[in-house]
Amino acid sequence: MSRIAYVNGRYLPHAKALVAIDDRGYQFADGVYEVAPVQAGRIVDLEPHLDRLGNSLAALRIEAPAPRSALVLICRETLARNRVTDGIVYIQVTRGVAPRDHGFPKLPVKPALVVTAKAIGWPIEAGADLGAAIVTTPDIRWGRCDVKSIGLLPNVLAKQKARDAGAFEAWFVRADRTVAEGASTNAWIVDPEGRLVTRPLGPEILPGITRATVLGLARAAGIEVVERPFGMDELLSAREAFLTSTTALVRAVVSVDGRPIANGYPGEITRQLRALCIAHYRGAGAA
Ligand code: PLP
Repeated sequence: MSRIAYVNGRYLPHAKALVAIDDRGYQFADGVYEVAPVQAGRIVDLEPHLDRLGNSLAALRIEAPAPRSALVLICRETLARNRVTDGIVYIQVTRGVAPRDHGFPKLPVKPALVVTAKAIGWPIEAGADLGAAIVTTPDIRWGRCDVKSIGLLPNVLAKQKARDAGAFEAWFVRADRTVAEGASTNAWIVDPEGRLVTRPLGPEILPGITRATVLGLARAAGIEVVERPFGMDELLSAREAFLTSTTALVRAVVSVDGRPIANGYPGEITRQLRALCIAHYRGAGAA
């Protein structure tokens, strides 16, 4: 069965789902995107994902491509046409199609909307995570990393650096030697006192939906959480480290640039939060 994409009002096989060369996403990366998990036919955390999409659009002064209720229907229809019950739904909105010119189009254009769906088998076992190796890389991104922009070149290069090193992810390190986040994940440690530490929201990081979920789950489980930046030295001497994202959920980080974190195995709090996150995806957990 060929995959079906929603493109500006039509459902088309991927091979025929094309956008114009003057689309401002193609010309300028002038657009935003969203990725939401789908578990047993249910879009997990749909509302916060749509809220973040709205915030990203507002930050770039791009109009909403459709009312929220219509967008939800398009997502559900795209999932149904692709028979995806476990996986992700991807939403991309660009400023639209207009003759190439850096400034916004002089005549109003409709934002362009693309929705796709992909099947993914979510982890069944909380303990299935053997832990990931990560590398670090200088944070060369722009000053609005809180916007989920499709301009992802530094993230692309960082992810490739990780893959070239046989690692799962790259974490961006800022000029002050604090860790911002990963190429497509948020970054966490457990400090020697057992406190969970992650960077506070701000322009240096994406407000991860999984980050928010895990903060809620951790607090509900009585784990002390501190939202503050942490540095490279703290990372290397952390009791545990892990990353979060829609597709990775909670994943242990067991080495950084080839140096083990603690004993080099997923830590207890990481495993607990991973289990809670899996339960949350299944609709069993509250965050
Ligand atoms: N940080 C960046 C840069 C990302 O691209 C992503 C996800 O794509 C995340 C963090 C994690 O966000 P979420 O938990 O909403 O998937």
